[in-house]
Amino acid sequence: MVLRLWIGLAFFLSGVVLWTDLDTRTQLLSTVTGAGVLASGSGDYLTGSIEMLAGLLLILGLGARFAAALLVTVAMWFHAQQPGFGIDSTWLLLTGWFVIAGVGPISFDRLFGLGLPESAVVFAKPIARFCSLLSVWIVPLYLLGFRILVSWAFFSNGFGNIKGAANTVYVFLPDYWVAVEVPGAIASAITSIELVFPAFVAIGLATRFSAIPLLLIALLPELLSLEGTTHLQWAAMLALLMTGGPGRLSADHLVWKFLRKRYPELAGKAPFPLNELPHVIVVGAGFGGIGAVRALRHAPCRITLIDRHNYHLFQPLLYQVATGGLSPADIATPIRSMVRNQANVTVLMGRVQEIDKEADAVVLENGRRIDFDYLILATGARHGYFGRDDDWEKLAPGLKKIDDATELRSRLLLAFENAESTTNATLRRDYLSFVIVGGGPTGVELAGAMAELARHGLSGEFRNIDPASARIILVQAGDRVLPTFPESLSRKALRSLERLGVEVRLNSMVEDIDDDGVVIAGERVASKTVFWAAGVIASPAGKWLAAATDPAGRVIVEADLSIPGRPNVFAVGDTAASSSWKGKPAPGLASAAKQGGEHAARVVHAMLEERSPPGPFVYEHAGSLATIGRKAAVVDLNVLRFSGAPAWWFWGLVHVFFLAGTRNRIAVMIQWAWAYITYRGGMRLITGGSR
Ligand SMILES: Cc1cc2nc3c(=O)[nH]c(=O)nc-3n(C[C@H](O)[C@H](O)[C@H](O)COP(=O)(O)OP(=O)(O)OC[C@H]3O[C@@H](n4cnc5c(N)ncnc54)[C@H](O)[C@@H]3O)c2cc1C
Repeated sequence: MVLRLWIGLAFFLSGVVLWTDLDTRTQLLSTVTGAGVLASGSGDYLTGSIEMLAGLLLILGLGARFAAALLVTVAMWFHAQQPGFGIDSTWLLLTGWFVIAGVGPISFDRLFGLGLPESAVVFAKPIARFCSLLSVWIVPLYLLGFRILVSWAFFSNGFGNIKGAANTVYVFLPDYWVAVEVPGAIASAITSIELVFPAFVAIGLATRFSAIPLLLIALLPELLSLEGTTHLQWAAMLALLMTGGPGRLSADHLVWKFLRKRYPELAGKAPFPLNELPHVIVVGAGFGGIGAVRALRHAPCRITLIDRHNYHLFQPLLYQVATGGLSPADIATPIRSMVRNQANVTVLMGRVQEIDKEADAVVLENGRRIDFDYLILATGARHGYFGRDDDWEKLAPGLKKIDDATELRSRLLLAFENAESTTNATLRRDYLSFVIVGGGPTGVELAGAMAELARHGLSGEFRNIDPASARIILVQAGDRVLPTFPESLSRKALRSLERLGVEVRLNSMVEDIDDDGVVIAGERVASKTVFWAAGVIASPAGKWLAAATDPAGRVIVEADLSIPGRPNVFAVGDTAASSSWKGKPAPGLASAAKQGGEHAARVVHAMLEERSPPGPFVYEHAGSLATIGRKAAVVDLNVLRFSGAPAWWFWGLVHVFFLAGTRNRIAVMIQWAWAYITYRGGMRLITGGSR
């Protein structure tokens, strides 16, 4: 991929310069690619455009074979037109590699590779077939050519060095020899390497290792910062052989074939059946559970991952589903697809109801019992209503699951519909009053997104009401919003909320909630829509295990995240209380859950291999982020704090990066871009049976 980016960037910049100033083209290529050799004659806009477009496609890995073929053609055409400008054949060979072999896994071509051949696109199937034939038949020949070329270049260089002065070696290659003065011993070592190792590379014997010393020699001019020595493309060819191997026409291939026949386990076939391995059960496919499963990828065990849903949910963006900015599928990823390539994992959809501690078994809702050797509980948390769950949960739903988000979205949109259709002014006012309880990140983000929807997203769509007149009231028991952030950022968040017209009530407790409103610090506020973002309570894992819990219901775990007295049972993430953050409990954040899951997996892995366990779990806090609205966010990265538009961009990038699945990342970016330009969210559907 690095090679692809490098070549794509070189051509892209070459195209840019061709558009702007031909004279600097050679120089620019020198700095970018280490070779000022692609420059060719007088520029024209057509060639510049082709280079830019094809370079970009190569970088993206989209139609990369065709882009690379176009670039090779353009470079050769230039050369034919103006022979005075040299084209380095190594550049052409490297670019040609992508024509023959295609691109690697991190590319759009790989993403579309499965579906496109069977699509209705004309000639897609024969083209795909032709490309795969190229990969099968021409790649080995191409690699053989690479090997012979590289070997010959080094060997002839070494041969030349024999005749040179004792303390001088010529690096690097025939066209670009550079004399370097080195101690005599080093000169003869370099010469010997150049004489011996090319033979191994040429026949493809221990190629990946033989290429290493040659690569170092190829990099010598760069390492020594010698003027005018820019031959990274030779190093790139060697790196390609080191990472991809020498291909089928090589001694390595024959040796490997023989070994695989003799020792089938080398071919990925387990020497013993998977079901004889110790059984690890992971309950919950949230951040903690997925983190644990992935960290057990190479552990000698079979894993059963149990979740009551068939998807992993990215909770940080739930509020955008609740306010119509994203659709549920954008932030949820099927669990099976996430672990598709991990052969030691079986996914089971089911709700765990209890744990049989005596028999080491989990019991599912349908009565099925599953035995385990090790158990990792990552069942998260749910809303807590400070003991008023029975009365308040129906009246003020919270935001934890997809169903919660679609319920909130329905209630929010229904309130506007009801306000539009009623002729009673008081009722209309009540429908247009929204109360959010809780001024932590969820409450702040929800309030900001609701205010943006009311002020901008619905404008011009109603005839009897002005959605912008909606009151949005955020109630916070403490003296500032975002209490886990530094005070300065809390103040900025408060100002951003106020700019959006959100009424923030600090130091105010919600004392009662009913169908017609809430009582806030003794004052009645009429509202038909109340949302809860105030408290969470851990899953019942503590009850299942009859283990000690903290006031939020989180299981109090040992330093290695195991349950006291149960070294083979672990709790991680929102369902565990561990004093792993400088003596304080790890926060209820996705990163803490992920790190916890990975740590528990490391402990299990060490036990499976009878190694000494890793030290205690130490939570590394990378920072906290919250967004309030367009161009308004706060970021606390411990060493750096910022807010406003840069924080908003940072927040967006981080969330897209951590979303699971490429489809979701692309979908979210498209939705955001659309909403950013138009101020309209497209997911404003009232679904389900909301009141
Ligand atoms: C609205 C909202 C916004 C948030 N924003 C952020 C943020 O911006 N940044 C951040 O870092 N964190 C944020 N968080 C917190 C973060 O999402 C959680 O800390 C994190 O998801 C915890 O991971 P977990 O693996 O412990 O639990 P979860 O991710 O909640 O996963 C628990 C899993 O267990 C499954 N499960 C539960 N009970 C059972 C059962 N009985 N049987 C089978 N399966 C079960 C659930 O279906 C779920 O898949 C937010 C949370 C919410 C709700």
